[in-house]
Amino acid sequence: MKSVSIFGATGSVGLSTLDLIQRDPHAYRVIALTANSDVDGLAEQARATGAQMAVIGQDHLYGALKDALAGSGVEPMAGEGALVDAAGAGADWTMASIVGCAGLKPTMAALKVGKTVALANKESLVSAGGLMMEAASASGATLLPVDSEHNAIFQCLAGSSLDDVARITLTASGGPFRTRSRAEMAAMTPAQAVAHPNWSMGAKISVDSATMMNKGLELIEAAHLFPVGLDRIEILVHPQSVIHSMVEYRDRSTLAQLGSPDMRIPIAHALAWPRRMATPCQPLDLARIGRLDFEAPDLDRFPALRLAREAAQAGGVTPAILNAANEVAVAAFLAGRIGFLDIAMIVEDVLNRYSAATPCAIDDVLAADGRARVHAGEVMERLTA
Ligand code: NDP
Ligand code: MG
Repeated sequence: MKSVSIFGATGSVGLSTLDLIQRDPHAYRVIALTANSDVDGLAEQARATGAQMAVIGQDHLYGALKDALAGSGVEPMAGEGALVDAAGAGADWTMASIVGCAGLKPTMAALKVGKTVALANKESLVSAGGLMMEAASASGATLLPVDSEHNAIFQCLAGSSLDDVARITLTASGGPFRTRSRAEMAAMTPAQAVAHPNWSMGAKISVDSATMMNKGLELIEAAHLFPVGLDRIEILVHPQSVIHSMVEYRDRSTLAQLGSPDMRIPIAHALAWPRRMATPCQPLDLARIGRLDFEAPDLDRFPALRLAREAAQAGGVTPAILNAANEVAVAAFLAGRIGFLDIAMIVEDVLNRYSAATPCAIDDVLAADGRARVHAGEVMERLTA
């Protein structure tokens, strides 16, 4: 039996992970499940899986969680510190699928235990990738990428030496506004932005896909996971989302990983690794798909891609600032406070205020994150005044 914990269990990736686990309940023992505010969803999951503990991120919801779990035998916990404690409880396999930099501390705590961490929470790696990779190597933890592109690259590398890699190609669907002009994008609503053509995902990453900041964050994520040098990591728009990414070796042989756009495929890869497991996912029907298209990304219509590459090149805390400003701007867009094009504009404005300092510890990253959030708020005040 493998012991598992899921951080962000009530989200899109968390639900997909639970779906796989619940298809073979005798193979897994659930240690911890966590959420931020969805008390009922979390309590229901914890009861159904017989989890040892259920953690709600927001302190003030402790009482509600305790009531919802009454008589279940599941231990209720609440608050940021409880998330970190649960991550340190030492499950064999931990899914890190909290959204945003809020996932950083628990993910670091899980890495320090030295077991297996399946990483969906890209914002933590973008903000503190160097520190996370160091923590994994110090503890001997196995970090398995779940983001579909990085999982594809991991599969294409199959243990090969990075010295033999000529180029990594991250594929991008281009999101719902791939063919839209800037003028059209200016008028796009949150509902239009979250309507992704291929993938069903949480609201934040769906907006990131629409601005293509998601691919920018993934570029930074890839640079940490597969350190071949930023100039060897390219982005290629591939609207069908069938090829999830590619690795070209120096002999000019290219390997690609293909599959239906269903997150349960990369999650299953990380759950069964180094074996494989059956999934209920659709087999790939290339005859039905018929054709695969490719195009170069348009940095003028999608400035977030340029900003992310510049932040990656600057290094230090710059990616954490990019990420924090983006989190604030995306939340404001989803709340209807700013327009779609304002997102990248706010990120750029915040980035322009800082020079890169190298983070020595998680607290340096969190301090930069905090400052960037304040500045993003100020830029927004000016915008909406
Ligand atoms: P969702 O918004 O669907 O779910 C987020 C989860 O995190 C929920 O369980 C939520 O709890 C919890 N959460 C949110 N804020 C906090 C907080 N401050 N503290 C603790 N927990 C919190 O996100 P997704 O599942 O879409 O994405 C999760 C991560 O995986 C993101 O980093 C995303 O970029 C990445 N990812 C997602 C993919 C996808 O297909 N969805 C694909 C590749 C990567 P509650 O329900 O209570 O709000
Ligand atoms: Mg992805």
